[in-house]
Amino acid sequence: MSERLFGTNGVRGVINQDLSAQLAMDLGKAIGTYMKGNVAIGNDPRTSADMIRSAVAAGIMSSGANVIDLGMVPTPVVQHYVKSNDIAGGIMITASHNPPEFNGIKCIDADGTEMPRNKEEAIEKNYYKKSFSNMPWDQVGSMYPRSGAIDSYLSSIISLVDVQAIKNAGLKVVLDCANGASTVSSPRLLNDLGVRAITLNGNPMGTFPGHPSEPTEDHLKDLIATVKETGADLGIAHDGDADRTIFIDNKGHYLYGDKSLAVVASEMVKENNGGTVVTPVSSSNCVEDVVTAEGGKIVYTKVGAPIVSRKMIEVGAVFGGEENGGLIFPQHQYCRDGAMTAAKMLEIVSKKGPLSDLVEKLPKYSQDKRKIVCPNDLKDSVLSYLVKQYEREEVNTIDGVKICYSDGWTLVRPSGTEPLFRIYSEAKTELEAKERSNECEKVLSEAMKKYLK
Ligand code: MG
Repeated sequence: MSERLFGTNGVRGVINQDLSAQLAMDLGKAIGTYMKGNVAIGNDPRTSADMIRSAVAAGIMSSGANVIDLGMVPTPVVQHYVKSNDIAGGIMITASHNPPEFNGIKCIDADGTEMPRNKEEAIEKNYYKKSFSNMPWDQVGSMYPRSGAIDSYLSSIISLVDVQAIKNAGLKVVLDCANGASTVSSPRLLNDLGVRAITLNGNPMGTFPGHPSEPTEDHLKDLIATVKETGADLGIAHDGDADRTIFIDNKGHYLYGDKSLAVVASEMVKENNGGTVVTPVSSSNCVEDVVTAEGGKIVYTKVGAPIVSRKMIEVGAVFGGEENGGLIFPQHQYCRDGAMTAAKMLEIVSKKGPLSDLVEKLPKYSQDKRKIVCPNDLKDSVLSYLVKQYEREEVNTIDGVKICYSDGWTLVRPSGTEPLFRIYSEAKTELEAKERSNECEKVLSEAMKKYLK
């Protein structure tokens, strides 16, 4: 039986319970043995950052590779460094939005994208078989601290937006760094773009004292209040490793990620006179609506940022992203990028007016989300039954089962870790979304009864 170490976002766990220094060092050996070349490494400000980074780096060096230490930086800075330099890959030590007791190890491929599953499997194989290249004393690697990665990352972003338009607009912005990795980059970006910024939680702190590092509405109360109190044009919030950005509009409304995704997608298609936008099947129809209205085309993928990135490369997309605030700009790099997202939104607001007006123009949808318990061994049969029951509708099985209607959809996805299905429905009204979920839940229950016999 093949064991699995990497989840959807690398190897993650609670420090010294699931994720120990020993595990990190062995994984470092497995990575070094697989990558066979110099590896860049970065970390977010978690309390365990030094422990995990040092252990992974020691493992990599024992395999003969050098480690280039970029220090405390956002995940997209490591990805940009790897993409721009001739090295074998990168490692980011982060648990993104998870609580502070967690940390994680994420592998980055030589082109700067998140490592695809087949390569993670090769690393897992090395790890479980303990097949490590333990080099002799005169061939082990060294560690080289490197500064300047943030400068070239920010220069790339600045070269891709209309800086003059942003400067001329005289915007006032409240930035919430969540005491995370963006503290070293986003305040500088806003300064370079001539934006007057009021910064919250701007000191890096591994305990995340300001608020938990997932940018939910509940966690961003201070940001929302400050946007209102100061009459700011925009609130900007990053998650712990700053690959994602969530916005507060000029009226102090928290925007769910599908709204900012749609605003930016519409603009990117307009700028390119068409083109393809890639997003997972779970994204709101409002994204597809605005993309097609501007003459663009939408391509859906399974859920997961690396899958979106690779599809974007394959189809030559002009833009892509997820509804959690992870937006991907191909001219910059094929990965979610919090600072690039912030810069692009500032440009859009500078040129097109207040964010609340742009959001007001988007097609409106309501969503219903729920779970239903289902034994793991029944999941496949239940999903096949569901497809049959809805054969009169347009059904796709890109990820789980998605039943598409003219004004929305219902998506059923089996959980990868728990014995349950997640049901998401979208419709023009809250009531219709609920009714769609109710109906689907009924069909799933019927199927379970049938197969449980
Ligand atoms: Mg993140």
